Amino acid sequence: MQCEICGVDIKGAPIRATVEGTVLDLCSKCARYGKVSDKWTPVSRKIMPNEKMIVTRKPRRDAFDKLEDEIMSDYAGIIRRARESHGLTIEELASKIMEKSTLLRKIEREELMPEDTIRKKLETALNIKLMERVSSQDQRGGGFIRGTTLGDVAIIKKKAK
Ligand SMILES: [Zn+2]
Repeated sequence: MQCEICGVDIKGAPIRATVEGTVLDLCSKCARYGKVSDKWTPVSRKIMPNEKMIVTRKPRRDAFDKLEDEIMSDYAGIIRRARESHGLTIEELASKIMEKSTLLRKIEREELMPEDTIRKKLETALNIKLMERVSSQDQRGGGFIRGTTLGDVAIIKKKAK
C-alpha cells in the first residue's frame, strides 16, 4: 500500500482521509492534509474534481513553508546550468566548494535540498541566487493550488487510474 500523496510505502493500515473532496489512502504524515473519515465513502466518478484541482504538496517542502526566504523551486536546474556555464563538472565544483560530488549530484537531481551552508557556497562559487523572498500573502493566499507543481499533478494522474 502506497501513500497516494507522497508515494511512500505505508506500514500498517493507511489512513483514509478526504482531501479536496477526494478520498485517498495516506501515510500518517500526509493524513494531516485531509479530513480523516471513518468509513469509506465512494465518490462518484462524475463529481470527481478535475485532476488538476486535486492539490497536494511535496512533504519535503514543509520545512521551508514557514520561511519568508524560500529556495527557488528550480534550484537544481539553476545550479546545473550555472555549473555548466562555468565549464565545471560536478566533481570540479565539489572540490571547489569542498563538498562531496555525490552530495551535489543528489542536489542536482532534486533528491536533496541544499542546506544553508552548502547553498551559500554554491551561490558564491557559481555567482547565483538560490533564494527568493516570498510574500506569505501572495504565495500562500490561494492555499495549496499555487504550490502544486507539474510533478505533483503527474503523481496524482498516475494514482488516479
Ligand atoms: Zn504520504
